[in-house]
Amino acid sequence: MITRFSQLFVKTLREAPSDAELPGHRMLVRAGYVRRAAPGIHSWLPLGWRVLKRIEQVVREEMTAIGGQEVHFPGLLPREPYEATGRWTEYGDNLFRLKDRRGIDHLLGPTHEEMFTLLVKDQVSSYKALPLTLFQIQTKYRDEARPRAGLLRGREFVMKDSYTFDIDDAGLEAAYQRHRAAYIAIFDRLGLDYVIVRATSGAMGGSASEEFLAVSEHGEDTFVRADAADGSIAYAANVEAVRIPTPAPVDTDDLPAAQRIPTSNTPTIATLVAELDRSRPRTDGRAWAASDTLKNVLVTLIDPDGSRRPLAIGVPGDREVDLKRLAAEVEPAVVTPFGDEDFAAHPVLAKGYLGPGALGLGSVSKIEYRLDALVGLGSSWVTGADADGEHVMHLVNGRDFTADGVIHVAEVRDGDPAPDGAGTLRTARGIEIGHIFQLGRKYADALDLRVLDRNGKQVTVTMGSYGVGVSRLVAAIAEATCDERGLLWPRAVAPFDVQLVAAGKTEEILTVAQRLAQELSDAGVEVLFDDRAVSPGVKFTDAELLGVPTICVVGRSLADGTVEIRDRASGTARDVAVDDALGELIAELHGAHPDLID
Ligand code: ATP
Ligand code: MG
Repeated sequence: MITRFSQLFVKTLREAPSDAELPGHRMLVRAGYVRRAAPGIHSWLPLGWRVLKRIEQVVREEMTAIGGQEVHFPGLLPREPYEATGRWTEYGDNLFRLKDRRGIDHLLGPTHEEMFTLLVKDQVSSYKALPLTLFQIQTKYRDEARPRAGLLRGREFVMKDSYTFDIDDAGLEAAYQRHRAAYIAIFDRLGLDYVIVRATSGAMGGSASEEFLAVSEHGEDTFVRADAADGSIAYAANVEAVRIPTPAPVDTDDLPAAQRIPTSNTPTIATLVAELDRSRPRTDGRAWAASDTLKNVLVTLIDPDGSRRPLAIGVPGDREVDLKRLAAEVEPAVVTPFGDEDFAAHPVLAKGYLGPGALGLGSVSKIEYRLDALVGLGSSWVTGADADGEHVMHLVNGRDFTADGVIHVAEVRDGDPAPDGAGTLRTARGIEIGHIFQLGRKYADALDLRVLDRNGKQVTVTMGSYGVGVSRLVAAIAEATCDERGLLWPRAVAPFDVQLVAAGKTEEILTVAQRLAQELSDAGVEVLFDDRAVSPGVKFTDAELLGVPTICVVGRSLADGTVEIRDRASGTARDVAVDDALGELIAELHGAHPDLID
């Protein structure tokens, strides 16, 4: 196909509107790919729509390749199924709720687990119809609190969501692995630099779940990575899921005995360290450090049934408790502060001087006490002595105190060791582009999706749910590839294969350009033919802004019998004989475009 620039519905802008925050999004707006209709809501113009459709096609092909069958659900949905699973309320303010003319509640689908479960329940009654994989590429609605960065976090956005249905856990695991492989194929084809991270620790028996993050400083997700010598990623995990190795156990034979010491007016770690340096300087020549102290932090957990229980956590005094990690560890319980009234209810707790002596299920307080994994066996600490103005030093884990268990909540720092000896960790940011999740029987239970198994017994189906942020990918790719001159699409998703620029007004230039455009088109190449009556300079600037990976210039060098082929990514250009241009261009595109005729 030939698309004539003079006919294309596009208007490029010199300046991006001030509300476009990120460089890639600014270019998408400037190059006329999308326009904002309202916060988090965008209109797709021809160029943007082409890119979106090409990404959809990559996703569709890989989903089909793993046996997925495409369906399409409405975006406007009834309330009842979402009521049955509790999500009508649980989704909170993110759900667009609306009433029809009869006053009946509806919603705009944020994701479709309920609808798929019900459809399968309606159609399937025997294990023989399983395993089953269904997917759709469809518009979702979420009233996000902070719609951001254009397409990255929209309130209306395009998602590929798929759902697998299996008779048993082994089937679900296999379906999950197939999706994982399909996602790898998709994101590889899109040329993205991405990592796969465990979404949560699964500490409380949560199901397997992984996120695909496009590595980007503009991402909202933080993850930790350890780099191999060649710069590739040796280890990556969500902050919530990372497991910093526990220090090896230390032999306690030669350690001094625990000793209570008066430390008046030292309710904080900083004041304690200063007091230790003043009154008990170390003998090994170094100063006391916060990392020599054990800090005991109290929180209140609220269980799903509404009951409250305290939890005490011991962490090295130089580290904060990371609230995200803590939340993931105690899920489904929710963390709230341990308030003054909670202290009042436990008079044995000396605020500011809290120590392991008063904590633990075997203690007077009966408060569950867990030690962060960084507190190794045999490690020796200065910590609270459970009396105002008193601490205890040389208190050794495993010798002088024990906890009720281990917890992984200390903040992770750059330079911390990675698990499996994979080097050192540093934090990095990413854009979540995909999520795969073993749902298990939650929705099937809630909506009573059961089938007859091999033995004629009714069993509940187990499900997986898997999402790809299709419209978010347009933005993620733009952010990853754009430069100061404009967009720069990977061939797999570029709106056109070649931008052919007629740089000059002579009859010959126009004729040759027109002929080359036709030949390319006949060979199956998508050509954007810049036939406009504007200066070559304007055409070159626009070509760089639009980001078609290969630009072919038919211009002055025609006098020498050559045209120029420019590579947008490297900025390199080469002259080729007019008669070779078709062959050279096709060779360049080859591999990226299977339909091309040789
Ligand atoms: P996030 O943490 O970014 O809000 P999520 O955990 O809510 O994502 P899922 O419900 O797992 O996301 O949705 C599947 C995929 O849909 C995500 O991996 C992401 O790529 C995409 N997605 C989710 N919310 C949005 C949004 N508001 N705008 C664009 N894409 C989105
Ligand atoms: Mg979300």
